[in-house]
Amino acid sequence: MTSPTSRELKDRLGALGMSADVVDAVWPAWWSDEAEGSPSARTELRFGVSRRLGIDPRSLLGADEEPRFLWGGHEARFKNLSDASEVERTGLTSFGRAVASILLQATPPASRGIGGTAAQTLRDAILAGGRQFVDLQSLLTVCWGVGIPVIYLRVFPWSAKRMAAMTVRVGERSAILLGRDSEFPAPVAFYLAHEMGHIGLDHLSPGEAIVNFDPSERALDPADEEESKADRFAIELLTGRPDLEVTEAEDSAAASPGGLADVVRQEGPGLHIEPGTLALCFGYSTQNWEAAFGALKAIYASPAPAWAAVNAVASSQLQFDSVPHDASRFLTAVLGSPTE
Ligand SMILES: [Zn+2]
Repeated sequence: MTSPTSRELKDRLGALGMSADVVDAVWPAWWSDEAEGSPSARTELRFGVSRRLGIDPRSLLGADEEPRFLWGGHEARFKNLSDASEVERTGLTSFGRAVASILLQATPPASRGIGGTAAQTLRDAILAGGRQFVDLQSLLTVCWGVGIPVIYLRVFPWSAKRMAAMTVRVGERSAILLGRDSEFPAPVAFYLAHEMGHIGLDHLSPGEAIVNFDPSERALDPADEEESKADRFAIELLTGRPDLEVTEAEDSAAASPGGLADVVRQEGPGLHIEPGTLALCFGYSTQNWEAAFGALKAIYASPAPAWAAVNAVASSQLQFDSVPHDASRFLTAVLGSPTE
Protein backbone atom coordinates (compact mmCIF):
# COMPACT_ATOMS: atom_id res chain seq x y z
CA MET A 1 0.00 0.00 0.00
CA THR A 2 1.36 3.43 -0.85
CA SER A 3 1.38 6.41 1.44
CA PRO A 4 -1.53 8.83 1.24
CA THR A 5 -1.14 12.10 -0.65
CA SER A 6 -0.56 15.18 1.46
CA ARG A 7 -4.23 16.15 0.98
CA GLU A 8 -5.41 12.72 2.16
CA LEU A 9 -3.08 12.89 5.14
CA LYS A 10 -4.40 16.31 6.13
CA ASP A 11 -7.97 15.07 5.72
CA ARG A 12 -7.29 12.12 7.99
CA LEU A 13 -5.85 14.36 10.71
CA GLY A 14 -8.66 16.86 10.19
CA ALA A 15 -11.24 14.09 10.61
CA LEU A 16 -9.81 13.56 14.10
CA GLY A 17 -10.60 17.20 14.81
CA MET A 18 -6.92 18.19 14.98
CA SER A 19 -6.19 21.90 14.80
CA ALA A 20 -4.64 23.42 11.68
CA ASP A 21 -1.95 24.93 13.95
CA VAL A 22 -0.69 21.56 15.04
CA VAL A 23 -0.74 20.17 11.49
CA ASP A 24 1.34 23.16 10.34
CA ALA A 25 3.76 22.67 13.24
CA VAL A 26 4.41 19.02 12.37
CA TRP A 27 4.57 19.52 8.60
CA PRO A 28 8.18 19.23 7.37
CA ALA A 29 9.83 22.29 5.83
CA TRP A 30 11.14 20.28 2.88
CA TRP A 31 7.67 19.35 1.61
CA SER A 32 6.88 20.67 -1.88
CA ASP A 33 4.47 20.06 -4.76
CA GLU A 34 7.20 18.08 -6.49
CA ALA A 35 7.52 15.79 -3.47
CA GLU A 36 3.88 14.83 -3.95
CA GLY A 37 4.83 12.80 -7.03
CA SER A 38 7.41 10.74 -5.19
CA PRO A 39 6.20 7.66 -3.25
CA SER A 40 9.32 7.71 -1.05
CA ALA A 41 8.81 11.39 -0.18
CA ARG A 42 5.19 10.66 0.74
CA THR A 43 6.34 7.83 2.97
CA GLU A 44 8.85 10.10 4.66
CA LEU A 45 6.12 12.70 5.16
CA ARG A 46 3.80 10.11 6.73
CA PHE A 47 6.53 8.90 9.11
CA GLY A 48 7.64 12.42 10.05
CA VAL A 49 4.13 13.68 10.76
CA SER A 50 3.13 10.58 12.71
CA ARG A 51 6.29 10.70 14.82
CA ARG A 52 5.62 14.32 15.86
CA LEU A 53 2.01 13.55 16.74
CA GLY A 54 2.70 10.22 18.44
CA ILE A 55 0.57 8.32 15.90
CA ASP A 56 1.30 4.80 14.70
CA PRO A 57 2.44 5.47 11.08
CA ARG A 58 0.84 2.25 9.85
CA SER A 59 -2.55 3.55 10.95
CA LEU A 60 -2.22 6.45 8.47
CA LEU A 61 -1.90 4.20 5.42
CA GLY A 62 -5.48 3.37 4.54
CA ALA A 63 -8.44 5.75 4.37
CA ASP A 64 -10.64 3.21 6.11
CA GLU A 65 -8.26 2.92 9.06
CA GLU A 66 -8.67 4.95 12.24
CA PRO A 67 -5.43 6.84 13.11
CA ARG A 68 -4.10 5.24 16.29
CA PHE A 69 -2.18 7.11 18.97
CA LEU A 70 0.83 5.43 20.52
CA TRP A 71 0.41 6.59 24.10
CA GLY A 72 -2.25 7.56 26.52
CA GLY A 73 -4.01 4.32 27.31
CA HIS A 74 -2.84 2.92 30.61
CA GLU A 75 0.38 4.98 30.61
CA ALA A 76 -1.39 8.24 31.31
CA ARG A 77 -3.30 9.44 34.33
CA PHE A 78 -5.71 12.26 33.78
CA LYS A 79 -6.43 14.42 36.75
CA ASN A 80 -9.61 16.41 37.14
CA LEU A 81 -10.66 15.67 33.60
CA SER A 82 -14.30 16.24 32.99
CA ASP A 83 -15.32 16.06 29.37
CA ALA A 84 -12.46 15.28 26.98
CA SER A 85 -13.08 12.39 24.62
CA GLU A 86 -10.91 9.28 24.49
CA VAL A 87 -9.28 10.43 21.26
CA GLU A 88 -8.53 13.85 22.80
CA ARG A 89 -6.94 12.21 25.82
CA THR A 90 -4.73 9.81 23.94
CA GLY A 91 -3.97 12.43 21.29
CA LEU A 92 -2.90 15.00 23.86
CA THR A 93 -0.71 12.50 25.72
CA SER A 94 0.87 11.22 22.52
CA PHE A 95 1.62 14.75 21.35
CA GLY A 96 3.00 15.70 24.79
CA ARG A 97 5.12 12.60 24.81
CA ALA A 98 6.51 13.35 21.32
CA VAL A 99 7.32 16.96 22.38
CA ALA A 100 8.90 15.76 25.64
CA SER A 101 11.24 13.34 23.92
CA ILE A 102 12.56 16.06 21.58
CA LEU A 103 12.90 18.47 24.51
CA LEU A 104 14.95 15.91 26.42
CA GLN A 105 17.21 15.34 23.42
CA ALA A 106 17.82 19.09 23.34
CA THR A 107 18.45 19.37 27.10
CA PRO A 108 21.76 18.13 28.45
CA PRO A 109 21.20 15.64 31.29
CA ALA A 110 22.35 16.73 34.73
CA SER A 111 24.02 14.47 37.27
CA ARG A 112 20.73 13.88 39.06
CA GLY A 113 17.12 14.97 38.83
CA ILE A 114 14.83 15.78 41.73
CA GLY A 115 13.27 12.32 42.16
CA GLY A 116 12.99 11.55 45.87
CA THR A 117 13.99 15.10 46.86
CA ALA A 118 11.90 16.74 49.60
CA ALA A 119 10.20 20.07 48.93
CA GLN A 120 11.99 21.63 51.90
CA THR A 121 15.39 20.50 50.55
CA LEU A 122 14.70 22.22 47.23
CA ARG A 123 13.44 25.31 49.03
CA ASP A 124 16.52 25.47 51.26
CA ALA A 125 18.79 25.13 48.22
CA ILE A 126 17.01 28.02 46.45
CA LEU A 127 17.13 30.30 49.50
CA ALA A 128 20.76 29.35 50.20
CA GLY A 129 21.54 30.59 46.68
CA GLY A 130 20.68 34.11 47.81
CA ARG A 131 17.04 34.33 46.75
CA GLN A 132 14.69 36.12 49.10
CA PHE A 133 11.86 33.73 48.23
CA VAL A 134 10.93 30.91 45.88
CA ASP A 135 9.30 32.32 42.76
CA LEU A 136 8.66 31.26 39.17
CA GLN A 137 12.13 32.26 37.96
CA SER A 138 13.91 30.34 40.73
CA LEU A 139 11.83 27.21 40.03
CA LEU A 140 12.74 27.45 36.34
CA THR A 141 16.41 27.77 37.30
CA VAL A 142 16.19 24.62 39.44
CA CYS A 143 14.41 22.60 36.74
CA TRP A 144 16.77 23.52 33.91
CA GLY A 145 19.72 23.10 36.28
CA VAL A 146 18.82 19.47 36.95
CA GLY A 147 17.98 18.71 33.31
CA ILE A 148 14.17 19.01 33.47
CA PRO A 149 12.97 21.08 30.51
CA VAL A 150 9.94 23.30 31.21
CA ILE A 151 7.99 24.91 28.38
CA TYR A 152 4.59 26.34 27.61
CA LEU A 153 2.84 24.50 24.81
CA ARG A 154 1.67 27.16 22.36
CA VAL A 155 0.25 24.62 19.93
CA PHE A 156 -2.30 22.02 20.97
CA PRO A 157 -3.74 19.13 18.99
CA TRP A 158 -7.22 20.16 20.16
CA SER A 159 -8.73 22.97 22.13
CA ALA A 160 -6.87 21.62 25.13
CA LYS A 161 -6.82 24.93 26.94
CA ARG A 162 -8.26 23.17 29.93
CA MET A 163 -4.90 21.47 30.41
CA ALA A 164 -3.07 23.22 33.24
CA ALA A 165 0.11 21.20 32.97
CA MET A 166 1.52 17.83 32.10
CA THR A 167 4.56 15.91 33.27
CA VAL A 168 6.01 13.22 31.04
CA ARG A 169 8.68 10.77 32.07
CA VAL A 170 10.87 9.31 29.36
CA GLY A 171 13.34 6.75 30.75
CA GLU A 172 14.92 8.25 33.85
CA ARG A 173 14.16 11.83 32.89
CA SER A 174 11.09 14.05 32.96
CA ALA A 175 9.81 17.08 31.07
CA ILE A 176 7.14 19.55 32.20
CA LEU A 177 4.69 21.02 29.70
CA LEU A 178 2.55 23.93 30.86
CA GLY A 179 -0.75 24.77 29.21
CA ARG A 180 -2.83 27.27 31.11
CA ASP A 181 -1.40 30.75 31.03
CA SER A 182 -1.70 33.60 33.49
CA GLU A 183 -0.98 37.31 33.34
CA PHE A 184 0.88 36.93 36.63
CA PRO A 185 3.76 34.67 37.68
CA ALA A 186 2.37 33.40 41.02
CA PRO A 187 -0.33 31.03 39.68
CA VAL A 188 2.15 29.56 37.20
CA ALA A 189 4.73 29.10 39.97
CA PHE A 190 2.09 27.00 41.71
CA TYR A 191 1.35 24.82 38.62
CA LEU A 192 5.06 24.29 38.10
CA ALA A 193 5.73 23.48 41.77
CA HIS A 194 2.84 21.00 41.67
CA GLU A 195 4.38 19.21 38.65
CA MET A 196 7.78 19.23 40.38
CA GLY A 197 5.91 17.54 43.26
CA HIS A 198 4.86 14.66 40.98
CA ILE A 199 8.53 14.21 40.02
CA GLY A 200 9.94 14.73 43.54
CA LEU A 201 7.42 12.28 45.00
CA ASP A 202 8.21 9.67 42.31
CA HIS A 203 4.64 9.49 41.05
CA LEU A 204 5.73 8.58 37.53
CA SER A 205 7.23 5.38 36.20
CA PRO A 206 9.33 5.49 33.03
CA GLY A 207 7.08 6.14 30.03
CA GLU A 208 4.22 7.52 32.09
CA ALA A 209 2.48 10.87 31.90
CA ILE A 210 0.30 12.77 34.34
CA VAL A 211 -1.98 15.36 32.78
CA ASN A 212 -3.42 17.99 35.11
CA PHE A 213 -6.46 19.83 33.97
CA ASP A 214 -7.73 23.20 34.99
CA PRO A 215 -7.67 23.43 38.78
CA SER A 216 -10.90 25.41 38.64
CA GLU A 217 -12.55 22.14 37.67
CA ARG A 218 -10.97 20.47 40.64
CA ALA A 219 -13.73 21.58 42.95
CA LEU A 220 -16.04 19.21 41.08
CA ASP A 221 -14.07 16.12 41.99
CA PRO A 222 -12.46 15.31 45.29
CA ALA A 223 -8.72 15.41 44.60
CA ASP A 224 -7.04 12.02 44.70
CA GLU A 225 -4.19 11.29 47.07
CA GLU A 226 -1.43 11.94 44.51
CA GLU A 227 -2.97 15.32 43.74
CA SER A 228 -3.20 16.36 47.41
CA LYS A 229 0.39 15.27 47.95
CA ALA A 230 1.61 17.22 44.93
CA ASP A 231 -0.34 20.28 46.18
CA ARG A 232 1.25 20.00 49.62
CA PHE A 233 4.68 19.61 48.02
CA ALA A 234 4.03 22.76 45.98
CA ILE A 235 2.85 24.81 48.96
CA GLU A 236 5.80 23.69 51.07
CA LEU A 237 8.27 24.46 48.29
CA LEU A 238 6.77 27.93 47.83
CA THR A 239 6.12 28.85 51.47
CA GLY A 240 8.07 26.50 53.74
CA ARG A 241 4.86 25.05 55.22
CA PRO A 242 2.87 22.23 53.61
CA ASP A 243 -0.46 23.49 54.95
CA LEU A 244 -0.05 27.22 55.28
CA GLU A 245 -3.25 28.95 56.33
CA VAL A 246 -3.47 32.66 55.71
CA THR A 247 -6.50 34.28 57.18
CA GLU A 248 -7.38 37.79 58.11
CA ALA A 249 -7.69 39.34 61.52
CA GLU A 250 -11.16 40.65 62.24
CA ASP A 251 -11.78 44.04 60.64
CA SER A 252 -8.50 43.70 58.79
CA ALA A 253 -7.86 45.57 55.58
CA ALA A 254 -6.84 42.31 53.92
CA ALA A 255 -10.35 41.59 52.70
CA SER A 256 -9.99 44.23 49.97
CA PRO A 257 -7.64 43.73 47.01
CA GLY A 258 -5.68 46.90 47.77
CA GLY A 259 -5.45 46.08 51.47
CA LEU A 260 -4.33 42.52 50.76
CA ALA A 261 -1.69 43.70 48.30
CA ASP A 262 -0.26 46.04 50.95
CA VAL A 263 -0.21 43.32 53.61
CA VAL A 264 1.45 40.63 51.47
CA ARG A 265 4.05 43.06 50.11
CA GLN A 266 4.91 44.00 53.66
CA GLU A 267 4.83 40.52 55.21
CA GLY A 268 5.90 38.26 52.31
CA PRO A 269 9.63 39.01 52.11
CA GLY A 270 10.16 38.52 55.88
CA LEU A 271 8.43 35.13 55.65
CA HIS A 272 10.49 34.30 52.51
CA ILE A 273 7.25 34.00 50.56
CA GLU A 274 6.76 35.76 47.23
CA PRO A 275 3.96 38.33 47.79
CA GLY A 276 1.78 37.04 44.91
CA THR A 277 2.04 33.51 46.29
CA LEU A 278 1.06 34.76 49.74
CA ALA A 279 -1.99 36.47 48.21
CA LEU A 280 -2.99 33.18 46.53
CA CYS A 281 -2.57 31.34 49.87
CA PHE A 282 -4.97 33.88 51.34
CA GLY A 283 -7.43 33.17 48.52
CA TYR A 284 -7.12 29.44 49.08
CA SER A 285 -7.56 29.68 52.86
CA THR A 286 -10.48 32.10 52.81
CA GLN A 287 -11.96 31.33 49.37
CA ASN A 288 -11.92 35.08 48.83
CA TRP A 289 -10.44 34.70 45.35
CA GLU A 290 -11.70 38.08 44.29
CA ALA A 291 -9.41 39.80 46.80
CA ALA A 292 -6.53 37.42 45.96
CA PHE A 293 -6.63 37.99 42.19
CA GLY A 294 -7.37 41.67 42.67
CA ALA A 295 -4.23 41.89 44.82
CA LEU A 296 -2.11 40.30 42.05
CA LYS A 297 -2.94 43.27 39.82
CA ALA A 298 -1.54 45.63 42.43
CA ILE A 299 1.49 43.49 43.34
CA TYR A 300 3.00 43.24 39.85
CA ALA A 301 3.91 46.42 38.03
CA SER A 302 2.17 45.34 34.85
CA PRO A 303 0.47 42.14 33.68
CA ALA A 304 2.57 40.12 31.24
CA PRO A 305 1.79 36.65 29.90
CA ALA A 306 3.79 34.12 31.90
CA TRP A 307 4.22 31.86 28.86
CA ALA A 308 6.49 34.37 27.15
CA ALA A 309 8.82 34.49 30.16
CA VAL A 310 8.85 30.70 30.56
CA ASN A 311 9.54 30.08 26.85
CA ALA A 312 12.21 32.79 26.75
CA VAL A 313 14.11 30.82 29.41
CA ALA A 314 13.48 27.61 27.45
CA SER A 315 14.79 29.14 24.22
CA SER A 316 17.97 30.21 25.97
CA GLN A 317 18.50 26.76 27.51
CA LEU A 318 17.57 24.38 24.70
CA GLN A 319 20.36 23.15 22.44
CA PHE A 320 18.49 23.33 19.17
CA ASP A 321 21.49 22.17 17.16
CA SER A 322 21.60 18.84 19.00
CA VAL A 323 18.35 17.66 17.34
CA PRO A 324 17.60 17.21 13.62
CA HIS A 325 16.57 20.32 11.71
CA ASP A 326 12.91 19.30 11.39
CA ALA A 327 12.70 18.55 15.11
CA SER A 328 14.15 21.94 16.04
CA ARG A 329 11.74 23.67 13.66
CA PHE A 330 8.89 21.77 15.30
CA LEU A 331 10.11 22.83 18.77
CA THR A 332 10.25 26.44 17.66
CA ALA A 333 6.64 26.24 16.44
CA VAL A 334 5.53 24.64 19.71
CA LEU A 335 7.26 27.40 21.73
CA GLY A 336 5.47 30.13 19.79
CA SER A 337 6.83 33.62 19.32
CA PRO A 338 6.15 36.43 21.78
CA THR A 339 5.12 38.77 18.97
CA GLU A 340 2.19 36.65 17.77
ZN1 LIG B 1 -1.21 16.73 39.51
